[in-house]
Amino acid sequence: MSDERTGTVAVIGAGTMGHGIAQVSAMAGYDVVLYDPQPLAVEKGLAKIGDNLARGVERGKVAEGDADACRARLKPADALKDAVADAWLVIEAAPEQMEIKERVFADVYGLAPEGAILASNTSSLSVTRIAAATGAPERVIGLHFFNPVHIMKLLEVVRGSETSQPVVDAALEYARRIGKEPIVVTDTPGFASSRLGVVLGLEAMRMVEQGVATPQDIDRAMELGYNHPMGPLKLTDVVGLDVRLGIAEYLHRELGGEQYRPPELLRRMVAEGKLGKKSGQGFYDW
Ligand code: NAD
Repeated sequence: MSDERTGTVAVIGAGTMGHGIAQVSAMAGYDVVLYDPQPLAVEKGLAKIGDNLARGVERGKVAEGDADACRARLKPADALKDAVADAWLVIEAAPEQMEIKERVFADVYGLAPEGAILASNTSSLSVTRIAAATGAPERVIGLHFFNPVHIMKLLEVVRGSETSQPVVDAALEYARRIGKEPIVVTDTPGFASSRLGVVLGLEAMRMVEQGVATPQDIDRAMELGYNHPMGPLKLTDVVGLDVRLGIAEYLHRELGGEQYRPPELLRRMVAEGKLGKKSGQGFYDW
């Protein structure tokens, strides 16, 4: 395996998730290279990291010196080959489409050092299938971060069917070093988080359809009765109803259970453009 002490962490894709992954890795002391085929995305990603760090300093959560050191450890790359040339760990955060992931992994496999760990931040796709695009599936793993990356504690470590134990161990060590709480999940649709969380949201929608209670009161039941920080319908609004519909359709197709079938209410709201927070209306007005 390539060397964690001398190598860099390469983050491929500098969008919502990529810039956050770059930030937490650099904060933990890793040298980080950030790449995106859209050069503007790298620029924007680095600017967002700058904003996050400035806010952290303002709020007294990050020491000024640590923020400076973090910024100094972050480098942009203009080409994929430069990004991964010295990487011991490559983390892909490109769009959620199998063809894109397969292309990125095939390219990274050919360009990264022998032994580098190749990780995907996919939130739903099969890690085993992504791994098959490389010549070393034992080095491929899922590292499923949550949004916003610098705040959310969970890291789902997804073990593909060929992922080796030393690669799982190294991923767990990385997770702890960046201050995340890792769980290890077998590569199955929805992993542990979406499979359970989405069912709760879908059932809450069925309860709205059946007039069991208002969205506000269903959310309150979970917040006050079960100590969830946010009720399942408000969370659906924050994630996006279209995103949730896509995941539900995928889980229903792959796993088949009635609990994953998207409720009519969800389909109707998406068709009406009620996508939650991002569109200004969902189960709540935003
Ligand atoms: P995003 O659209 O914000 O960012 C994706 C970035 O990838 C863009 O900057 C785009 O220019 C870049 N890109 C496009 N083609 C590429 C390629 N061939 N190689 C490298 N980069 C490429 O998306 P995101 O929300 O950051 O999602 C990225 C991944 O993270 C997806 O797999 C998604 O499912 C997963 N994820 C997202 C969330 C979330 O809440 N947004 C949470 C967990 C996991």
